[in-house]
Amino acid sequence: MAPLWSRRVSHAYLLAGPPGAGQREAAQAAAAALLCRQPREGAPCGTCAACRQVAARTHPDLLVPEGHGIDTVRRVLAALPLRPQLGSRKVVLWFDIDRLTPQAANALLKSVEEPPAFVVFVFTTDHPTAVLSTLRSRCRIVPFRPRPREDRARELAEAAGTRLEAAFWALRVNGDAAPQARAYLDEPACAAEAEALSQVAAALAHGGLVDALDAARRLAEWGDKAEAAADVLIWLLRRQEAGDDPARRLGWTRALADFRRAWQANANRSLALEVFCARCWAIARRAPCLGAPAGAGRPGHRTTGGRGAGGRPRGR
Ligand SMILES: [Zn+2]
Repeated sequence: MAPLWSRRVSHAYLLAGPPGAGQREAAQAAAAALLCRQPREGAPCGTCAACRQVAARTHPDLLVPEGHGIDTVRRVLAALPLRPQLGSRKVVLWFDIDRLTPQAANALLKSVEEPPAFVVFVFTTDHPTAVLSTLRSRCRIVPFRPRPREDRARELAEAAGTRLEAAFWALRVNGDAAPQARAYLDEPACAAEAEALSQVAAALAHGGLVDALDAARRLAEWGDKAEAAADVLIWLLRRQEAGDDPARRLGWTRALADFRRAWQANANRSLALEVFCARCWAIARRAPCLGAPAGAGRPGHRTTGGRGAGGRPRGR
């Protein structure tokens, strides 16, 4: 995406997308680009004093409000009219703008509509529909699309030095919010849960029906985390497949969708998990080459190689 701020600069941007879609990083880059002393094609140089100060959040013309209440808004409004100290602009970089209380958002409206000429607001949100519509309509909206969770998990796993499975689980169970997922990876529970999920996936893929029902009973003890667990199980099962079978993909999708409906409707949750696990087991059973490394399998041929750490002998 060509930086919007490379051409005519608006006075308010709202970088909006689901958690982890990149809006926070882009907002930080936008703030740097707006204050950089030698931007190139709208991108910050990354090396000048201004860029370094933005990165350290010490630039005198950069405001990064921490809170979302009326007091914070009042402090920002009081600072707005003061002319920039170093350059020609003053940037207000405000994350998670959807968290503004209605009172705070309303107090901010007029200034977002008609700020001093040198002020640029750069807002972000992980929940675009939760932003007060009157505030949203005063901003130039920059939409961000969700990135695949697996890509984000891979980055997180590399940064944290953990297994991909643990990072994927940490993201899913924390609503895809990277900071919380990163913190969760440090908790012993995270690795233990990820390992348990790998074992359940192995039981569904390689075990008998009794193993599948046993897995359902174990998941029922996870309480509210079981919904996230079902999501991650499907991901694990799909990763074990050799090739991409559209019929089976549809099977996984339907099994998960039906489970979610039952789960959210607060139907008998233990039963919902049993049905889900039994269906996953059945879908995996139809697979001719489960357990084979991608590209190595052929119908009717089962290899023991390429199995994850949760692999276990074929069950009853
Ligand atoms: Zn710079």
